[in-house]
Amino acid sequence: MRIVFLGAPGSGKGTQAQRLMADFNLPQVSTGDLLRAAVADKTELGKRAKVAMDAGELVTDDIVLGIIAERLSQDDCSDGFILDGYPRNLQQAKDLEPVLAEIGQSLDAAVLLDVDMDILMKRLTGRRTCSKTGKLLNIYFSPQEKLDAVTAAGGELIQRADDNEETISNRLSVYREQTEPLVDYYREAGLLKTVAGEGEIEEIYTRLRETLGLG
Ligand code: AMP
Repeated sequence: MRIVFLGAPGSGKGTQAQRLMADFNLPQVSTGDLLRAAVADKTELGKRAKVAMDAGELVTDDIVLGIIAERLSQDDCSDGFILDGYPRNLQQAKDLEPVLAEIGQSLDAAVLLDVDMDILMKRLTGRRTCSKTGKLLNIYFSPQEKLDAVTAAGGELIQRADDNEETISNRLSVYREQTEPLVDYYREAGLLKTVAGEGEIEEIYTRLRETLGLG
């Protein structure tokens, strides 16, 4: 199975991709995660990407193309993958085609996780990661006992550097202007599948699996 996940920042792409990855043994290829790793390692590429990331802008197409081509050519992607956060604009969607042709693969579906704007804002401003386990939580939506458990275990609730309000509004407008046109692009290619992305994570996951014909 080769899937692209579309959806605004905060639509739950990462969470749902992680579920599919665990249940179907598919690698989740997230350009955001790969870029954050490069920034943390202070690589040359990470240094170039950081300024755009901190501002909520897109990193240049050539940087992400290099990252994605390298990642998709690794062995664990040969039986399928979930692309989370790539492509982010029309140029990247076009860039992806020769990369897939090179490894003899093509996409099975582009999944759009559809979520209202006000819910997106709360999901993004409330998002935290446990410093010990890497588990994703939300100060507005996670049960209080789960939030308390993090601190009780000596962990901290960390907010991503690009999850502040200014950067978030910028990321949402970048999404509307640059990424949303991909919905039509994949609809015209006959690959678009839309999943309502509101409600409990489990509920959304069930809808997602049904939409993908995964039972
Ligand atoms: P994400 O974790 O997917 O929300 O990505 C975090 C940030 O990484 C984005 O705001 C962009 O600055 C950058 N980024 C991630 N994926 C891409 C991409 N495909 N193209 C350009 N920039 C990206």
